[in-house]
Amino acid sequence: MTTKKQELGNFGEAIVAKTCACPKCKRQKTLKRLPTNFKCADLICDFCGFLSQVKAMTVKDIEQLPKQVLGAAWGPQKERMDSSIYFPLFLVLKAANGHAIYYLPVDFQRPELFSPRKPLSEKARRAGWQGFMYNLEALPKGALVRVA
Ligand SMILES: [Zn+2]
Repeated sequence: MTTKKQELGNFGEAIVAKTCACPKCKRQKTLKRLPTNFKCADLICDFCGFLSQVKAMTVKDIEQLPKQVLGAAWGPQKERMDSSIYFPLFLVLKAANGHAIYYLPVDFQRPELFSPRKPLSEKARRAGWQGFMYNLEALPKGALVRVA
C-alpha cells in the first residue's frame, strides 16, 4: 500500500520525467526514475548520466514558493556536504488547480540551505532518526527557476 506521502513523491518524479528536458544535455524524455531505495538521487538522464533529486509538496498557490520544504535524512546529507557533494533539485508544487515545477541548480546550494531537525523522540517508531528541511529563504533571489 502506498501512503499519501509516497503518492505525492511518485507524482513529482513522474511529472518531472515526463515534462522536463535534461538540464545538462537538453534532451527531452531522457530523465528516468531511479529505484525508490536508490539513496542519493531520484532521476537519472539515460543519455548523459545527469543525476537530480525531486521534492514534491502540496501548496495552496503554486506561484508562491514555500519557506521550507521537507528534506530527507540529515546524516547522509551532512556527509555529502562535508565532501562538497550537492545534487540539482526539482521542486514540484502541487495545488488543487494544477502544478508547477521549479529547478534549483547546485551552483546556488550552500550548507545554509539544509537545516537539521530535532532527532525523533524515544517514543517514535524510528527513535533517534534525524531529518532536515530545505530552508528556501537561505537561497539568493531567483535561484529557484520555474521551468514548467
Ligand atoms: Zn542528459
